[in-house]
Amino acid sequence: MSNAHVNDEIIQVFALDKNYYHPEASAHLEQCKTCREAVAAYQRMFSGIQSSPPAVFDFDVKALVLPQLPVPGKPQTMRKSGWLPVLVIVLGAVLPLGIGGYAFRKDLAGIFNSSLPYLLFCLGPAATLLLLWLVTDILSRHGQKMARLEYY
Ligand SMILES: [Zn+2]
Repeated sequence: MSNAHVNDEIIQVFALDKNYYHPEASAHLEQCKTCREAVAAYQRMFSGIQSSPPAVFDFDVKALVLPQLPVPGKPQTMRKSGWLPVLVIVLGAVLPLGIGGYAFRKDLAGIFNSSLPYLLFCLGPAATLLLLWLVTDILSRHGQKMARLEYY
């Protein structure tokens, strides 16, 4: 530690413990006014922190947080509003298919046999687009998660 100043970590240790001894740093501190002033500044800061009153919330943290915590042992249930869209989708798809299938039950085999090429022509591009959308969505979410990890 020839001409370089003592690093901040060691200066903080000196500020916290006056009996601390580090062979090179202690020798440097005896000669360097800048480092001694840094130790003194940290000592003032630490004593200021210790003498300051403890932080107190001006609102009731317990009353705000406790109702939002999950109750241990109680299983998490899906909210009622979460079932309504599922029910609407299932009824919206099953009811028309069931009614249509029952009404055209004699023609069902003919409909599927004659329209299979047209169905493949329509479903192929839709499936391809859906697959592309899913892949881009997965890549986008992965990018967002990786960006979020950069903060930690
Ligand atoms: Zn120094």
